Amino acid sequence: MIDLSIKDFVKQEKLQLKERIESLQGRKKILNKPVLNIVQVGNVEASNRYVRNKVKDCEEVGIDARVHHLPETITTYELASFVDDLWGPTIVQLPLPKGVKEPRIKAWWDVDGFGPEAKHTSCTPGGIIEYLDAAGFDYEGKLAVVIGRSDIVGKPMAKLLLEKNCTTAVVHSKTPEDIKKLLLLEADLVVCAVGKAWFLDPTDCNPKAFIVDVGINFDENGKLVGDVIPSMPKKTTPVPGGVGLLTRLKLMKNVVDCYG
Ligand code: NAP
Repeated sequence: MIDLSIKDFVKQEKLQLKERIESLQGRKKILNKPVLNIVQVGNVEASNRYVRNKVKDCEEVGIDARVHHLPETITTYELASFVDDLWGPTIVQLPLPKGVKEPRIKAWWDVDGFGPEAKHTSCTPGGIIEYLDAAGFDYEGKLAVVIGRSDIVGKPMAKLLLEKNCTTAVVHSKTPEDIKKLLLLEADLVVCAVGKAWFLDPTDCNPKAFIVDVGINFDENGKLVGDVIPSMPKKTTPVPGGVGLLTRLKLMKNVVDCYG
């Protein structure tokens, strides 16, 4: 059973991060605030909201968030050279316009941790693991089932759980339903990253399982909902106010890690 509230955990961690930044400044390791470049292409409403939240978080802990707005008409080449010229930790807000490829960010400054050479842990899985660690989740001897195998969530999540000695299964759209059903009934931990509103019914899982809901979806009324039916709030991370907060926290930690 995990009792640690995500909101309390994030609040506490942000205070520590703020102190860490002040201490770096006090020891003259950095003269100014740490920087986060946020590159946003076009004007997608969901992206505007994500960027606003990231800027607000940065302000809270003392990171200088610099938002670079670029036009939707930008080419892959133009975006790549713009990003290449930036100095400091950098993220490119997704999605990009159709046909524009994600630019390569220098490995150490790739604080989203998306690139193949990134030196930082990918923010969503990394943030989830740090929360589970803080909550005292005991990985060894446990079965985790990760639903989804994307490069930014499912795969790195499974890798981190394996590194914790958690027995880990990854299921995806081609997994036969009967196998998925059996695994969920045995799972101690389920991480659901599918991107379909209310995809998972917690009653289909082991009643003792802790469920991490990664999904960000909108229902027919435009309300933000997760991948998991919110019937057992104590056993499932909330949406909103759950994995999104952990992801943003991990992003800020990756930024500060760039400075020592
Ligand atoms: P994605 O790239 O679309 O991947 C979705 C995965 O779900 C795929 O691997 C797909 O399998 C699998 N899937 C689809 N239908 C399935 C089914 N019936 N049974 C089992 N697996 C199935 O999505 P993503 O980038 O990983 O993101 C997933 C969700 O998390 C989205 O809602 C996204 O917005 C959200 N997200 C939230 C945060 C946060 O901070 N809270 C961060 C990142 C992402 P195949 O590979 O076989 O197609």
